[in-house]
Amino acid sequence: MKKIVFILLLSLITTSLYAEQTFFSRGSLNVKEIALSFDDGPGLNTKDILKILDKKDVKATFFLLGTSVAKRPKLVKDIYSKGHELANHTYNHMNFFRYDEENDKKEKIKEEILQCQDLIKDITGFRTKLVRFPHGYLKEDAIEIARETNYKIINWTFGIDWERALSHEEMLELYLESAKPGTIFLMHDLQKNTTIIKMLPVLIDTLKNKGYKFVTVGEMINKRLSEESL
Ligand SMILES: [Zn+2]
Repeated sequence: MKKIVFILLLSLITTSLYAEQTFFSRGSLNVKEIALSFDDGPGLNTKDILKILDKKDVKATFFLLGTSVAKRPKLVKDIYSKGHELANHTYNHMNFFRYDEENDKKEKIKEEILQCQDLIKDITGFRTKLVRFPHGYLKEDAIEIARETNYKIINWTFGIDWERALSHEEMLELYLESAKPGTIFLMHDLQKNTTIIKMLPVLIDTLKNKGYKFVTVGEMINKRLSEESL
């Protein structure tokens, strides 16, 4: 009896520790894997990005924005049918750092997640469990909501694609310098951005030559969690 209680207790502790882990900005440092993630789309850069990923046989994670999904549902289906991972970037891209209606803030965060989730699910049938809040918002209220709605919050290890003054060579160098096992790269696909389109194929080839494998954020996080639960 004592043994059963002990095992039960142990599994309860392990389960709660497991569930505690709600936030990630990288995968395992022990595995040569990189995850590409694209925010705010689908948008004007999505098709070109999809072509590159297809050609290079790489699967990425798209943190879709509700308003963009509503505008381009067909593109959401394309992303999904090509085997990429769909994730949630909320509906309206509200900046919760600046949201000062404290009394309904938690409700608002929840609404922003669920509205985007429902729309993605209506279009693809897929229910994502990964959310990235606009501007990387990560306060206690966001963590509580993520737990309540069964989400993992995903930020990023490195991103610089919004620096429009950079040439594609400079941008490439910065991404390459930041590539380590478990790195989650952030880029955006809402606006037309030819710098990314020029850089991305070279970035993928160079990292593959260095022995890196490209995985989705979900795959990366699952591996890290299974490593940590050993
Ligand atoms: Zn965003």
